[in-house]
Amino acid sequence: MPPDADTHQTNITGRCYCGAFSLRASRPQVVTFCHCIDCKRITGSPLPAFAAFNLGDIVFSPSAGQERTYPTGVHRWSCDQCGSLLAAQFPYLEGQTYVPLGLIDQAADLPPTLHCHADAAMPWLPKDDLPRSAGSGRNQLRRAKT
Ligand SMILES: [Zn+2]
Ligand SMILES: [Zn+2]
Repeated sequence: MPPDADTHQTNITGRCYCGAFSLRASRPQVVTFCHCIDCKRITGSPLPAFAAFNLGDIVFSPSAGQERTYPTGVHRWSCDQCGSLLAAQFPYLEGQTYVPLGLIDQAADLPPTLHCHADAAMPWLPKDDLPRSAGSGRNQLRRAKT
């Protein structure tokens, strides 16, 4: 059996800005906004959004790029050519890989369902009816694990 002949759907695709790194994955466990200052700075966006995948449900090609561990315990990967953030893993969200939603080709069909760190949201953002977590939302995010 070929190594990737598994039962997972691989209908999600994505890539960095320059295309040197790509990904394919099955449906994410959860898609969320994160308004924390760390996510804003690391992405450069005032409204960062991420899709969370089970570790075994996402494959990067040829790899997830250059790994950085800042701060200690947080792992992030980025393209060493164009600089796009490709993936992040957090010690308090074990077993999940977070991908910036903007990398994903099907992002238009993957609306976020949660606001994390909602207290830090930009005051000029239009309000919606999604659940809002004042903190990291880690309980909701962990519960989304399958
Ligand atoms: Zn790139
Ligand atoms: Zn965040």
